[in-house]
Amino acid sequence: MDAKPILWIVIPCYNEQEVLPVTSPMFLKKIIELRDKGKISDKSRILFVDDGSEDDTWKLIGELACRDEHYIGICQSRNRGHQNAVLAGLMEAKDRCDVTISIDCDGQDDINAMDNMIDEYLGGCEIVYGVRSKRATDTMFKRKTAEGFYRFMNSMGTEVIYNHADYRLVSARVLQHFADYKEVNVFLRGMFPLVGFKSTSVCYERKERIAGESHYPIRKMVALAIDGITSMSVRPINYIAGFGAIVGFLGFIGVIWAVAGAMTGHTVDGWASIVCIICFLGGIQLLCLGIIGGYVGKTYMESKHRPGYIISDRTWQPYQRKYMEETDEE
Ligand code: UDP
Ligand code: MG
Repeated sequence: MDAKPILWIVIPCYNEQEVLPVTSPMFLKKIIELRDKGKISDKSRILFVDDGSEDDTWKLIGELACRDEHYIGICQSRNRGHQNAVLAGLMEAKDRCDVTISIDCDGQDDINAMDNMIDEYLGGCEIVYGVRSKRATDTMFKRKTAEGFYRFMNSMGTEVIYNHADYRLVSARVLQHFADYKEVNVFLRGMFPLVGFKSTSVCYERKERIAGESHYPIRKMVALAIDGITSMSVRPINYIAGFGAIVGFLGFIGVIWAVAGAMTGHTVDGWASIVCIICFLGGIQLLCLGIIGGYVGKTYMESKHRPGYIISDRTWQPYQRKYMEETDEE
């Protein structure tokens, strides 16, 4: 093996002045530890992405960068939300390193899982998802709503890895391809599985926030779920179309029922014709809406300009991974 891989740890920060002084030394310690174990290069960096904080977060990042060369930072012109902050960091990193790990800055995600992530990377995986093994420290309410979140997302056609948030290792090679996903509404945890490549998961325990407050109350979680569904899946439109077909069928039965009623003379004058019109038009309208929705959904997906395919290897030019742990087998 030639030189070691350069790791960039990408950390979104929004109003985290209480947390940063506590967690930043932990990240540095981890990078030094991984370097000393010979797993990563000393050129590895900790990239803080200030997501337009209103407090002293950016000032603190500047001070950290002066104190140790492993700390670096970028600042967004305004707050754009967690997903875009992570994306900004990853795109900044993709041409400057070999592998990235994105993690929150509040110390909730166990940084020791990085060892396993790097091992998996050196073993040939290009994406390693951090999966929470248990949520013992979350409140019952947070746990239940979070579990409901994953179940609901999957039922709506957005594939997400159960209990995986945005703690993940992604190689620079995958990020190069990920950059072709030009959409503006990003839902990272649903998009990385689309890119493909060899991937795996490592488990870690989710801890409590070290300081400060969560920026993800239930309101934002619901917004994230809706965002995730509407930017990844057109299944809700298909449901509407299906519902339209059912109502259309019931309308058809309603028409027969009204005509039969009128013929047997059990109805008031004019009733049958009105019921026929209501049932028929109601059903047809919903069905047509569903069909139009199908086209709108296709147009929506086309407008994202996602790559139709990504090639991972070629027989005449096999992809050579630069960093692979040497195995003993010959
Ligand atoms: N964050 C961000 N921009 C935002 C909100 C949050 O960059 O608009 C960052 C925040 O600093 C933290 C991470 O995203 O590093 C996760 O946020 P938080 O811990 O508040 O969410 P929770 O873990 O409670 O879901
Ligand atoms: Mg948190």
